[in-house]
Amino acid sequence: MATAPWTAHPHCPAHLRGEVEAHVRALPPAFLNEPLSGEVFDNVELCKERLQGFAFAQGFAITQQSGSMKQARPRFDFQCIYHENSTRNYRKLEKHVERDEEDKITSRRKQEATTINARNCPYLIYLAFKQIGKRGSREFGLVLGVKDSSYSHSMAVNPLVYAEHKKALSGYQMTLDLGKSLRSAYISYSAARRVLEQAGFPLDCKGYYNLRYRALSAEKDEFAGLVVALEDAGFVFECRMEEEIDQQSGEVVDTQLQQIWFAHPDQIRYAQRFITGWTLFVDSTFNTNARNLVLLVMAGITNYNRTFVAALSFARSESKMSFDFIF
Ligand SMILES: [Zn+2]
Repeated sequence: MATAPWTAHPHCPAHLRGEVEAHVRALPPAFLNEPLSGEVFDNVELCKERLQGFAFAQGFAITQQSGSMKQARPRFDFQCIYHENSTRNYRKLEKHVERDEEDKITSRRKQEATTINARNCPYLIYLAFKQIGKRGSREFGLVLGVKDSSYSHSMAVNPLVYAEHKKALSGYQMTLDLGKSLRSAYISYSAARRVLEQAGFPLDCKGYYNLRYRALSAEKDEFAGLVVALEDAGFVFECRMEEEIDQQSGEVVDTQLQQIWFAHPDQIRYAQRFITGWTLFVDSTFNTNARNLVLLVMAGITNYNRTFVAALSFARSESKMSFDFIF
């Protein structure tokens, strides 16, 4: 008997629809059935996949709360992401706002939790290692038990709002790797976005700038911070990278940002108008900053005989290469 393929919620954003439907349709069809007590699994991962698959199609997500096969009687609890304790409290804030007699807030928590994850959803499914089959069969397995299958919330029209589901998509890991490469080459978000969109998985700006292969040194981080700030302000910029190559393996060990050139679109307009075929001054100043970077200033003269700054560039040295890069 042919059944119609699974379709996303009518209000699921159109650009994500294909991705969402492809994911669900690739799941074993049995995943789409309501989990029932008595389902037997070979291992916990399979069970989790099955529950998460069901949740994906429904529009919620599950998280594993507890459990280990090392326990005397292994039992794994799975709850809805909206269960009561799921608001992560990294700063160890008090559960509620506390006030003294004068109604001044004494707790470090200044606002009652309003996070969407705190909705006290009672949904609870567990997996227990126990005897299966006839009594005395001595056959053991992981058996599903449905403790509570009710929800306290409506379902998301787009399951990708949950990080748990986003990570499960096949293209996601690939995109992260690609994003990391672009990021470590100081490619701006606006340029990287086009590449990432081609790969079928755009990252948002914050997600992109948070990507990194390893912790950057403070110095590198400041350069990266400059890149972010410039892009935010609408500047056009270009970076010159230098790669440190391992003599033996020929592999790139490290890349260092040597120079960054930036100008505002307005400055470029001025430059095109007044510098082209006329005069450009370039000079460098030292010791303008704690990093000992050379600041190269490019200036021109307008038709009112006023000078203006056409572009700026920070470089590690006043070498010929630094000048060449500008032109
Ligand atoms: Zn729930």
